[in-house]
Amino acid sequence: MSSLLASVAVGRPVRGEFTYSVPEALASKLRPGQRIVVPFGRGKALGFYLGEAARPPDPSVQLKAIIDVLDDEPAVAKDVLQLLRFAAEHYRYPLGEAIRAAMPPGLTQQQAQKQARPDVQRFVVATPMADPAALLRAPAQAAVIQYLLAVGGRAEIEELAHAIPGARESVKKLVSRGFVQIEEVPIEAGVKEGLQHGRHERLTPEQDVAVAELARALDAGEFRPYLLHGVTGSGKTEVYLQAMEHVLRLGKGGLILVPEIALTPQLVGRFRSRFGTSVAVLHSALKDRERLLHWQALRKGDVRIAVGVRSAIWAPVRDLGLIVVDEEHDPSFKQEDKLRYQARDLAVVRARLCGATVVLGSATPSLETLENARRGRYSKLELRSRVDDRPMPAVHIVDLRRERPRTPETAGTEPPVLSTPLLAAMEETLGKGQQVILFLNRRGHSTFLLCEVCGTAVRCRSCDVSVTHHQSMRKVMCHYCGEGGPVPERCAECNGTILKLGVGTERVEEEVAAHFPNHSVARLDRDAASSAERLTELLASFARREIDVLVGTQMVAKGHDFPGVTLVCVVMADTSLSIPDFRAAERTFHLLTQVAGRAGRGRDPGRVLVQTYNPDSEPIRRVVAHDYDGFSDTELRWRRALAYPPFTRMAAVRVEGDHPEQTARIAQDLGQRVARRMPPASHGVRLLGPAPAPITRIKGKTRWQLMLKGPTHASLGPLLSEIEARLPELPSAVKVVIDVDPTAML
Ligand code: ADP
Ligand code: ZN
Repeated sequence: MSSLLASVAVGRPVRGEFTYSVPEALASKLRPGQRIVVPFGRGKALGFYLGEAARPPDPSVQLKAIIDVLDDEPAVAKDVLQLLRFAAEHYRYPLGEAIRAAMPPGLTQQQAQKQARPDVQRFVVATPMADPAALLRAPAQAAVIQYLLAVGGRAEIEELAHAIPGARESVKKLVSRGFVQIEEVPIEAGVKEGLQHGRHERLTPEQDVAVAELARALDAGEFRPYLLHGVTGSGKTEVYLQAMEHVLRLGKGGLILVPEIALTPQLVGRFRSRFGTSVAVLHSALKDRERLLHWQALRKGDVRIAVGVRSAIWAPVRDLGLIVVDEEHDPSFKQEDKLRYQARDLAVVRARLCGATVVLGSATPSLETLENARRGRYSKLELRSRVDDRPMPAVHIVDLRRERPRTPETAGTEPPVLSTPLLAAMEETLGKGQQVILFLNRRGHSTFLLCEVCGTAVRCRSCDVSVTHHQSMRKVMCHYCGEGGPVPERCAECNGTILKLGVGTERVEEEVAAHFPNHSVARLDRDAASSAERLTELLASFARREIDVLVGTQMVAKGHDFPGVTLVCVVMADTSLSIPDFRAAERTFHLLTQVAGRAGRGRDPGRVLVQTYNPDSEPIRRVVAHDYDGFSDTELRWRRALAYPPFTRMAAVRVEGDHPEQTARIAQDLGQRVARRMPPASHGVRLLGPAPAPITRIKGKTRWQLMLKGPTHASLGPLLSEIEARLPELPSAVKVVIDVDPTAML
C-alpha cells in the first residue's frame, strides 16, 4: 500500500465522499476525474477519484483499497469535476450519481462499450508500446501487431477480422496490454459544410459595441459575466457567432446552451454553417454512441464548440473561453428530476471556475438575471432596436368581454374562438400573401369536459386535473400522466350530456381551416410534432412559405426567424395568468413578448392582436407598450415586498406518497421538525406549509409540499439537513424530494 489516501465519489445513491487506500502500483497513475473501481458494500462499484484525502481521525478504521483505475486521461475534466462538486453540494444530490448522470452512458455502462453501431468506423491503432517480440507466447496477438505495423500502424477492425481469424479476441487482449487503442470515427465526419456562410459583415452599431466589448472580455481571459438584453429581432445570434469566432481565434473553446434543439434549427444551422465540423450538437435525441463520440471529440479538443440543451453544461469543452446561454429566461434550463439543476446558473459558476466570459442573452431576461445586472454583478449589453431599424410590431388588444354576444340566451356562453377583428386582420394579411402565427398555450380540442346537468367535470382517474379532449386521436387525455380514455358522451354521475368547453390548439386549427378554406394551416404542438424530424419538417415548410397559418403552443414563441410573418395573434392571453405560481405574471409577459416578437422580422412591418379578458392586467398592458423595463420595475417591487426571488432564496420539499393519510402525516412531521430548528424570526427564514400541493394528486400519488424561504442559500442549509436526516427512516411508500431554487410550484 502507498501512503496515499484517495477521496472517492461512488456512483451509487449515497451522500458524501469516501476514503480508500491506494495500492502502490496504482498510486502514480491516479489523477482527479478518473473512473476507478472500488469495493463497495459486498460488491464493487464504479467510482470517481476526486483527489487526495486526509487521514481519518480514527486510525483503527480499516480502509478498503481501490481495485483498479480505468482511465489514463481522466474521464471527467477538471473544471467539469469542480462544477459537479458544486452542483452536488448546492442541489443536495449524491456526487457519484451526479457525475454518472453527467457522463455519456457509454462510459458508465459496461454493455454500452461492447456494442458497436454501424454509424461509426472503428480503427485499431498500434501504440508506441506495441512490440511483437514481447508476444512470443501469444502468436495470435503478435500476428495482429505485425499486420498493423505492416500497414502503417492503423487498420479498421473489420479489415483485421477479415485478414486474421480471431483478430477481435486478440485486439481485446492487446488493448488491455496497452499495445493498441481503439479509435472511433463517426461516418459522417469530414462532411464539411460551407464555411463562412451568411456572415453579417456590417453589424448594427449596437451589435458592434456588444461584439467589441465581448472581444475585450475574451482577451482579458478572466471571469466576466454579461447580460445581453436585445429586443426580438435585434440580431443577438450574430453577436454570439462573432464572439465565438473570437474565442476560436484565441485558440479556446466555446459552449452555447439553447432551450431546445429541435425548436432552434435556425440557430444551430447558423452555427453549423459558420463553424462547420468544429461544432458538436448535443441534443436529447442522440443515440448513446453518438453522444459518446461527440463527447470524446470535445474532450480531445478535436471539436472546439458545443451547442446543446441544458445537459450540455457538462460538455467537456477544452480551454473553455466563452459560454452563451440563449433565451436565458426559458424554464427548460431547469432540470426537473434527479439532480435538479438550473443550467443557466451553472453556466455562470462554470465560467467563474474556468475564467471564462459568460453571456446570458434574451429579449425578456429573467428577473433573477436582471437583478444581478442591476446590482452590478453582471455587465449589461443592450440591443434596443431591431436590425435595419425595422419597427417593433404594433400590439393591439381585442377585449373578449366586449366580443361576447350579450343577448339573454347567450349570456355566459363562450365568445367565438376567433373574434371579428382577428378574422379581419387574418383576411387582410393572407390577402397580401403574408403569413400568420396563432398562439394558444393549450393542446387538444376542448380543454375541459363538463356535465350540463350536474356540472361534474371529467377528471383523470389518477391525477387531480380535468382531462382534455383530443379529437384527432378520438380520446380524452390527461396532460399530467398521459393516460387516455374514450370520450364520454354521458355523465358518470347523473347520465347528463357532457359539454365540451375550453379551447385548445386543435379547435383553433379547425376554425382557421373552416374560415380560410383556400389557405393552408398547420399545427405546431407536442401532439402534431411528436418527433424531432416532424418538427424540423414543419418549421422548414413554414419557412419555405408552403404553410400560410401556423397554430401552436409556446413552441411557436421560441426564437424563430420567419420573415414572411407579419401577423401574430394570441388566441387567449389569460391562460397562464391565473396559475398559482409567483412567476405567473413574469411567464405571461415573457411568453407574449416572445410570440409577439415573431411578427415583422422581414421587410414588411408586423402587428400583433391579443385576445384577452384581462386587458388591464400588468403583464398584458406592458406587452402592448413593449415595456420590459416598466414591467420588471413593478414586478421586482412586488417580489421584494413579498420576499420572493430574486430577493430571497427558496427550496421546495415535496412529499409524495401512495396513501393520503400517511403522506399528510409525514409532511406534517417534517414541518414540525423544521419549525423546531427555525432560527429567530429576525433571520428572515420562513417555512410555508406543509400544505397539499396545488395539484394534490398526480399519477395516483398524493402530493404535499413545504416551501422554505431565506435571505441566502446558506440560511436554508441546516433546515434541509434536518429533513435529509429523517429520510432513511421513511416508509418506502413515501418519497421526499428536495428542490433547491425551484421553478415548478404546482
Ligand atoms: P434575435 O435573436 O435577436 O431575435 P436574430 O439573431 O434572429 O435576432 O436576427 C434577426 C434577423 O436579422 C436574422 O434574420 C439575422 O440574419 C438578421 N441580422 C442579424 N444581424 C444582422 C446585420 N448586422 N445585418 C443584417 N441582418 C442581420
Ligand atoms: Zn392523469
